[in-house]
Amino acid sequence: MRLLVVEDDPDLNRQLVTALSDAGYAVDTVFDGEEGHFMGDTEPYDAVVLDLGLPKMDGISVLEQWRRDDKKMPVLILTARDRWSDKVAGMDAGADDYVAKPFHMEELLARLRALLRRSTGHASSELECGPIRLDTRSSRVTCDGAHIKLTSHEYRLLAYLMHHKGRVVSRTELVEHLYEQDFDRDSNTIEVFVGRLRKKLPSDLIKTVRGLGYCLAEAENET
Ligand code: CA
Repeated sequence: MRLLVVEDDPDLNRQLVTALSDAGYAVDTVFDGEEGHFMGDTEPYDAVVLDLGLPKMDGISVLEQWRRDDKKMPVLILTARDRWSDKVAGMDAGADDYVAKPFHMEELLARLRALLRRSTGHASSELECGPIRLDTRSSRVTCDGAHIKLTSHEYRLLAYLMHHKGRVVSRTELVEHLYEQDFDRDSNTIEVFVGRLRKKLPSDLIKTVRGLGYCLAEAENET
């Protein structure tokens, strides 16, 4: 899952990027509304954390413009504690949720997890596929109850496929949703990561759909 953080306060921006990266997301970050709008307009984010008070273009305008252009990604806005009218304006502009500053990072992470699972049609924070369970709260993966140790990139790949279970996901889509913008994508091909991940999982879990991409599906003989 790839996220965009639009926050002009350098300390808060850094804290957000650290917490979100630690939680297993690919994170792009910008510090003003104009660049934020551009990034959200041109890159396919799974969710956006958007401050409302921003230089160059305010958060409400950024959000309104995205929604006018039919950008549907979930957006969580950061509002000032005592400004209830900001929350109303933000939700009406197309925000999916908000947290008021100052906030606990755990709350923001939980709200983001909820937005991501709703946008991909999941009810629970624990995703399942056959014997595999992925807990989005702890980033823990088990197979028949046994812990599977994954690198952060392997976890990102599996989490994306599990959120989109049963659907064919192309390599291009994976590249766009697993890596930060400035990541050297050429040196780490998706095929390599899929190969490494397959070695740690039941062999038939990630299917290759020739010419299209990959599909995570439960074994067909399980009825
Ligand atoms: Ca601000």
